[in-house]
Amino acid sequence: MTNNFYKICAANGAWFYKNEILERTGLVNHAFSTRIGGVSEGAYSSLNLGVNSKDEKQNVLSNFQLFSEAIGIQTEKMVLSNQVHDDKIRIVTKADCGKGVLLNSDIKGIDALITAESGVALATFYADCTPVLIVDLQKKVIASVHSGWRGTLLKITQKTVLKMTREFGCDPKDMVCAIGPSIKQCHFEVGKEVYDQFVNVFGQPAADNTIQKNGKYYVNTDALNVDALAACGVPLENISVCPLCTFCHNDVFYSHRGDGGITGRMCAVIELR
Ligand SMILES: [Zn+2]
Repeated sequence: MTNNFYKICAANGAWFYKNEILERTGLVNHAFSTRIGGVSEGAYSSLNLGVNSKDEKQNVLSNFQLFSEAIGIQTEKMVLSNQVHDDKIRIVTKADCGKGVLLNSDIKGIDALITAESGVALATFYADCTPVLIVDLQKKVIASVHSGWRGTLLKITQKTVLKMTREFGCDPKDMVCAIGPSIKQCHFEVGKEVYDQFVNVFGQPAADNTIQKNGKYYVNTDALNVDALAACGVPLENISVCPLCTFCHNDVFYSHRGDGGITGRMCAVIELR
């Protein structure tokens, strides 16, 4: 398990992060957006990519253009998820490109996207929840997974790996995974009832990866996602975890908790070259 994330400040002012391990595969273009370098104002300032937020629609579209230009992935190629903190996964193709931002979408209630086609950019959205990007190096299949705490409890990341295995003959040992910026253990405070759910699902590793302080519980969901990936056979050295906390670095990232609930959304996107 490694870090390997680095920041890029694009010429047009948009900031985003990349992961060295994904980049080294030479197979994909990918990015994790930030809130820096867009046109939105107020609570949405400034690179808000949340199509379902109450921000001005035109500003969100302008932000998509800025982000697309910065990362070199056309908005027309993006397929957007419509996340509901569940564990439904959809395989998408070129026929789905543009859905959710430029075109109407029939992709509803989907928290993870998979494709084996190049030129299809899988986009999932965040403001504290955990983005996980996955590449199978041999079969050339990719996935973008939205794993908030509910998704983590449902093991959506592991389910996505298993679906890639089942549907495309992928082998987890050939996969590399990047877990992006999200709310980290320092600020992921939950009550006993949520902590108990983590222990029910993950057992001892949940207890081992939780700090108790003043009657509250701080769960390391990254560690549990890594456990779930390793349990299905992804080599630990192929899993990269971004240490940046969206709440701690609220000036760079949208944070649902840090911004008091009204905020924009960042995007994690990946495309096979
Ligand atoms: Zn923090």
